[in-house]
Amino acid sequence: MPVLLAKESDVDVLVIGAGPAGLMAASSLAKAGVNVRIIDQRPNKVAAGQADGLQPRTLEVFQSYGLLHHFEEQGNQLHMVAFYNPSSKGGVERTGRVQAINASTARYPFEITLHQGAIEAIFLDFLASFGVQVERPVIPTSMQLSADEKELKDPQSHPVKITLQNLDAKAGQPDTEIVHAKYVIGADGAHSWVRKALGISMEGEQSDYIWGVLDMVPETDFPDIRNKSAIHSNNGSCMVIPREGDKIRLYIQLTDTDAVNPLTGRVDKEKMSAEKLLQVAKKSFYPYTIQPKEVEWWTIYGIGQRVASKFSANERVFIAGDACHTHSPKGGQGMNASMIDTHNLTWKIAHVLRGWANMSLLKTYEYERRKYAQDLIYFDKTFSALFSEKPASEENQGGVTHEQFLEAFLSFGLFTSGIGIHYAPSAIVNTKHQSHASNLIIGQRILPSVFIRAADARPFEIQDLIPSDARFKVLVFAGDITEVSQMRRLRVLGEKLGKPEHFYNKFGGKEPSAAFDLITISSSKKEQVDATDFPEVFRPHLNNILLDDEDMHARVAKGTGYDTYGIDRARGAVVVVRPDGYVGMVAPFEDVADIDQYFSSFMTV
Ligand SMILES: Cc1cc2nc3c(=O)[nH]c(=O)nc-3n(C[C@H](O)[C@H](O)[C@H](O)COP(=O)(O)OP(=O)(O)OC[C@H]3O[C@@H](n4cnc5c(N)ncnc54)[C@H](O)[C@@H]3O)c2cc1C
Repeated sequence: MPVLLAKESDVDVLVIGAGPAGLMAASSLAKAGVNVRIIDQRPNKVAAGQADGLQPRTLEVFQSYGLLHHFEEQGNQLHMVAFYNPSSKGGVERTGRVQAINASTARYPFEITLHQGAIEAIFLDFLASFGVQVERPVIPTSMQLSADEKELKDPQSHPVKITLQNLDAKAGQPDTEIVHAKYVIGADGAHSWVRKALGISMEGEQSDYIWGVLDMVPETDFPDIRNKSAIHSNNGSCMVIPREGDKIRLYIQLTDTDAVNPLTGRVDKEKMSAEKLLQVAKKSFYPYTIQPKEVEWWTIYGIGQRVASKFSANERVFIAGDACHTHSPKGGQGMNASMIDTHNLTWKIAHVLRGWANMSLLKTYEYERRKYAQDLIYFDKTFSALFSEKPASEENQGGVTHEQFLEAFLSFGLFTSGIGIHYAPSAIVNTKHQSHASNLIIGQRILPSVFIRAADARPFEIQDLIPSDARFKVLVFAGDITEVSQMRRLRVLGEKLGKPEHFYNKFGGKEPSAAFDLITISSSKKEQVDATDFPEVFRPHLNNILLDDEDMHARVAKGTGYDTYGIDRARGAVVVVRPDGYVGMVAPFEDVADIDQYFSSFMTV
């Protein structure tokens, strides 16, 4: 029999795992024109179950990739939350209803729920539009990261050697391939092979909470079945998540007796069934009744609340998503955190691969996302404990009251929506001139606000003008250019931007618009100025000139953007927005040198 030689190949980025984190990684890299491959051990994509909740910030990110409309078409929207607690008559009664999202600046003030398979399918189609397919069923069997310092320091070298095995190779064809990658992203879930191969430990512990999940179409007299509902009963707790169509998901609190195998001490799915889960849920719902018309999927799990000790090895192999943080799914965070991880990482890799940034930029991934993951675990511990503890009642005076639970729900609202994500100062988060845009918090995502285009008064949401295209956006808030002195200041700024020693040309090279998108927003009124009034450097395209003024019907654009951002309407400011939509720095016109310094700290000439 002939010996089949392993194929050998090079790739810029290899993504291992095609769950939410991996698909976001590959999609974002493919969109940025990066040479990327993605593999998964599963022969087919997920068909049902697993994660299903998309938070407001994730929706904003999807919109920045032009994908949100698919989720709006297919998913369910959650606008209201209901709370149920023990009633003096026995069973439970409703104790309150509040907004599902209390992050006041969320552009989309709701959650979308849709099963993970449908979410993945949208990304698979998006990836296919760039000619990238998930290669499956394929697993890595060995990985070596070069120890050669010179090789590791060269951003264009291929220091990671990975052997892949195709689990479904055709007879007569080699089933192994040796891939030399510049960068590897391990998005291979909670039991991550990549994490283990790197010897990275998980810090934290297994909690005592065991939960069941049941996806079904219900028949019920429960009045809040189409609202997210937290049911805290004397017979256990249950969370209702309405889903696409008439489906719902139930998260059901279980006891050790329900779910743990006494011989192994581990959660054992064999001990449970959809029927048994439903029996437990029914006790929480009483006096309401619930019955499935159809069960779609179910599972049980014990919660591990852990964060990886490191998120990368030499900024060449990264881990993302469940591979670096695990927690309970009730807060609806897992898939969101995982996708935002790779949304944070991929533009940095794209910049390094294009030769625009040096490799130090990649260190900010672990710096920003590990801190976020630790905050996530803190939230999860607090929220899980409150949800799993016995509710207050006449017999249990020390239990969790409705007010305590509501307060926790509301106080974590900014965090759980993703809107509150706030990256700490670093090379790419410079807070020096915060006061020049006092409400646009540096390190947070840019606030939504509608402006009009100077050329034709068409309203635009600023977030739609700064897509996830791996470019920095330089927003020049030009102030009121009808004032002669302000126009003079703007001209001086324009002259500086046109000079080779300043960031725009220095790091943008021959074609600055490839690396930077310059958008100019004046506080002058549409009746007073034309787009052509602005110095040429500010209008690489006529469309890039906006005004903070009302649209023709004063319905969408209110002319209040400067106030929303806390920017002086007369004098303006420069705002740098990172490619992932987070505010990187703010500066007054006279401090271009500080913006130069910001970019010099990670960009290359
Ligand atoms: C059984 C199960 C039930 C869940 N239930 C819920 C829930 O009810 N609610 C909720 O919010 N979240 C739930 N989650 C968690 C949620 O799905 C995750 O938080 C989210 O999917 C994380 O995304 P990820 O891409 O990091 O990981 P995953 O979605 O786990 O994706 C990892 C991918 O990597 C692939 N992979 C793994 N190992 C290898 C390997 N060696 N080689 C190649 N590919 C590999 C896997 O096949 C998978 O496609 C569940 C997860 C699982 C596994």
